[in-house]
Amino acid sequence: NGGGQDAKNLRVKLVLLGDSGVGKSCIVLRFVRGQFDPTSKVTVGASFLSQTIALQDSTTVKFEIWDTAGQERYASLAPLYYRGAAVAVVVYDITSLESFNKAQYWVKELQKHGSSDIVLALVGNKADLHEQREVPIQDGIEYAEKNGMFFIETSAKTADNINELFEEIAKRLPRPST
Ligand code: GDP
Ligand code: MG
Repeated sequence: NGGGQDAKNLRVKLVLLGDSGVGKSCIVLRFVRGQFDPTSKVTVGASFLSQTIALQDSTTVKFEIWDTAGQERYASLAPLYYRGAAVAVVVYDITSLESFNKAQYWVKELQKHGSSDIVLALVGNKADLHEQREVPIQDGIEYAEKNGMFFIETSAKTADNINELFEEIAKRLPRPST
């Protein structure tokens, strides 16, 4: 194993993928800083933040988070970010069917080119905007199930299920044997 990693203290590379505007950067900001900034800037290329969480069994997990830009002109750079990632979080916006279709594109990409043991999560964000919902929760659940992914709906705005997302991912990580 690489430096800084043992059975009790895991360090994992996590990449966020999904259409521009679905809320990837806001999810990271909410998780890392506990904040929501409705005027947040568009991510250019990719940005990097880290956050450590403690699990009940006293394991700690340090997430090294790569937040990518969804713009088409950066799509060709995506493999640089998901290569070697232990976790990929594919995000869509529950008020945008188009973003759900784009999420499925990313899942296929990851299945083709990601690590074979990558932990995949599908996230339907902006759950607070339920009145504008275009993607039924059942569609997310079914797609994730078919593809062996963990599924959750979140709101970076209200903080709903943001910590749960990362805790559930942490529980699903393969543990290094010592
Ligand atoms: P990214 O391009 O995927 O990184 O998306 P951003 O994080 O930049 O968010 C895009 C827009 O969606 C911003 O205007 C955010 O304020 C808004 N947004 C992000 N998450 C939520 C959410 O959970 N609920 C609502 N209502 N708006 C959100
Ligand atoms: Mg962004």
